[in-house]
Amino acid sequence: MKVERAEILVVGSGAGGAVVAATLAEAGREVLVIEEGPEVDTSGMATHTPDAMRTLYRQGGLTPILGKPSMAFVEGCCVGGSTEINSAFWHRLPEAVCTSWAETFDIHGLDSAGLARLFEELEQEMKVGVSAAGALCASSRLMKAGAEALSWKVAEVPRAQHEHPDQSAYAPGAKRSMSRSYLPRARAAGARVLADCRAGKIVRKGDRVTDVLAVRTVDGGTEPVRLEAGTVFVCGGAMQSAVLLRSSGFTRNVGDQLHVHPMIKAAAEFDEVVDAHLAPLPVFQVKEFGPDVTLGGSVFTPGFLALTLSDNWLQNEAAMERWRHMATYYATSRGQGCGSIRAVPGSRQAFLRYQFAPRDEELLNTGLARLCELLFAAGARRVFPGIRTRASFAGPDDCRTFMRTPVRLRDMSLSVLHVFGSCPMGEKMNRCGADSYGRVHGTRNLYVADASLLPGPTGVNPQGTVMAVALRNARHFLDAV
Ligand SMILES: Cc1cc2nc3c(=O)[nH]c(=O)nc-3n(C[C@H](O)[C@H](O)[C@H](O)COP(=O)(O)OP(=O)(O)OC[C@H]3O[C@@H](n4cnc5c(N)ncnc54)[C@H](O)[C@@H]3O)c2cc1C
Repeated sequence: MKVERAEILVVGSGAGGAVVAATLAEAGREVLVIEEGPEVDTSGMATHTPDAMRTLYRQGGLTPILGKPSMAFVEGCCVGGSTEINSAFWHRLPEAVCTSWAETFDIHGLDSAGLARLFEELEQEMKVGVSAAGALCASSRLMKAGAEALSWKVAEVPRAQHEHPDQSAYAPGAKRSMSRSYLPRARAAGARVLADCRAGKIVRKGDRVTDVLAVRTVDGGTEPVRLEAGTVFVCGGAMQSAVLLRSSGFTRNVGDQLHVHPMIKAAAEFDEVVDAHLAPLPVFQVKEFGPDVTLGGSVFTPGFLALTLSDNWLQNEAAMERWRHMATYYATSRGQGCGSIRAVPGSRQAFLRYQFAPRDEELLNTGLARLCELLFAAGARRVFPGIRTRASFAGPDDCRTFMRTPVRLRDMSLSVLHVFGSCPMGEKMNRCGADSYGRVHGTRNLYVADASLLPGPTGVNPQGTVMAVALRNARHFLDAV
């Protein structure tokens, strides 16, 4: 069997893994990063085409989270992780969420002021900002107009993006993903990145991890690899980190408390030509109903539109002819339920389940009703909600009348992009899988540094928080070890 050695092994190269790798390599540590997915230069490609989805997304973007209803979960599987395919919206963790996590999970040294300093540093590197005035696409402009007509709080979300005078902010490569920020930094400091290499098992001796068994895809075939490391950081994302930990026997408080932001979509048809495919990312969010409900704009392609219309395809098929007049939007909620993650023995698949709480139905109804209200205020002539019981609304009164009776969860088409909490950090031994700085309880040299550590839903786009916590924990590791 091929053997690779490193002082520090980082499993996964997304938001958490890339920050850990760069921080440790720049401090002079010998770092090896392994990544299950391929290394693809995403700087010249739109990352939401069918081809890109086959290459960059786990299972082509189709991973079910089973429940009533089941939800479609989407995550990246490539060098750079989900940051290569996401919208790069940037939020800091709300202070109230930070305080409540620190108290509920007894997380030592976690406070808003400390995180704010880390956010500032990350925002410099990630070039977080808003698009240049006047550069708004029509789907953003319409959303903003709708919110303003209703006097709702609306703001452009800062993004991690390069500003280039000759380039649209939506151009491929404009986004600061990990492959264009922390991974080059890690490599410049000597870190090695091994793509197409999936960790399958962490081997332990007592309380120490000794090595990781992985499989690497080379020239269409596979070869087993044994990775020997003094310290292992698991950064595979909230789903896959839990799968790896559990299938390696680390099960205590791992994969038992999955949290998500369930999302429902709606498509709006306007009189004007919107051409949402040309600037596919509406950049405004409405926080009027926060912290539990957020309204925003979805990435648009005719294919994604067809998916939104597909719940009632017979009635909605004809609307596709007017796709240039249409744009898609979402309502997302801070999930109130809880899920679980289980490894399926002998398979790469995970068994993911989510149990909704009664309040989830209420929040998603509020979100959908407000979203439709906003789109009509923006001038939509028809709105197509992501539900099975109604194909479209012809106007605001039609929508209000229908939604007087709450839509049942089972009739909603829901998807999930944000997941958390599969190995929560903290000192509450009955709830936490890792300590306050990510070391897996009961081990001396096994750490987690990704969305798994965040003990609950952030209520905002989470990439910034994943990175800030990873940076905090990597620095703590350097001080301690
Ligand atoms: C479509 C989409 C849009 C989003 N939009 C936004 C947004 O606008 N703003 C925002 O803040 N957040 C957004 N997010 C969420 C954000 O991208 C994630 O919260 C963040 O990337 C999570 O970081 P992570 O390190 O936990 O996991 P990831 O970034 O997903 O990285 C995990 C990496 O580990 C690899 N891996 C997993 N298991 C193994 C293994 N066993 N061996 C080797 N490698 C492994 C995976 O292939 C993956 O590349 C979005 C997510 C998606 C999917």
